[in-house]
Amino acid sequence: MNRKYRKTIIAGNWKMNKTPSETKEFMTAFKGMMPKGRWCDVALCVPAVCIPAAVRAMRETRVGIGAENCNANASGAYTGEIATNMLVDAGCKYVIIGHSERRAMGETDADVNAKVLAALEAGLIPIMCCGETLEQRESGITSEWIAMQIKAGLQGVSEDKIRKVVIAYEPIWAIGTGKTATPDQAEEVCEHIRTVVRKLYSSKNARAISILYGGSMNEKNAFELLAQPDIDGGLIGGASLVPEKFLQIINAANQPTA
Ligand code: PEP
Repeated sequence: MNRKYRKTIIAGNWKMNKTPSETKEFMTAFKGMMPKGRWCDVALCVPAVCIPAAVRAMRETRVGIGAENCNANASGAYTGEIATNMLVDAGCKYVIIGHSERRAMGETDADVNAKVLAALEAGLIPIMCCGETLEQRESGITSEWIAMQIKAGLQGVSEDKIRKVVIAYEPIWAIGTGKTATPDQAEEVCEHIRTVVRKLYSSKNARAISILYGGSMNEKNAFELLAQPDIDGGLIGGASLVPEKFLQIINAANQPTA
């Protein structure tokens, strides 16, 4: 983390877990635990039907609610899809884009790019995900692959909007597997992502952009991962479903830094 230049963000990704009633229960418990002092930014990205309950519960707090996906089109014949202006109107601040689980369902880099542009246009903060498979890592192409995903995802994002984008590095082999990247492995790729952003934009923009790590981050390993200079927070799946665990990760993000 480097709080001088950029935001620290702890974001939960609930995936397809919790009903609206369970959302209310979580939020009530979580609100009761929230410390009074200064906090890093906190986001909870929840299933679409849980957004109203989450927004209602977190209205007076500093927790921003997010969606887990969006459609890039403004409106029209896209049965089952949700447009960015609908998310804004529902009270969302964030939207996860290009999660590997959605890419596995057929989402392409071009889709990711269109969604990032639509999210920015609507005033949402896109949390754009990238990450390599174990096979790609073992064949030594992680850096090229990540650079390609970042370049494709950010195409057409202007100089004045780039700082609104949050990038999440999520090695696919670490998501939901309990196999966390080591702090060195995670830092190496997050630093590389910052270099890619520097080349695409500028040093100032690269220094200001928040880059998160995701992949089995939990209350035990968060402190060490978040102590890395280029890891500005976490995108957390499993551990964000339990208020106590999520809070411990937030506490780890509020650690003193050099
Ligand atoms: C995720 O879903 O983005 C994720 C990182 O999941 P987990 O923390 O469960 O590995």
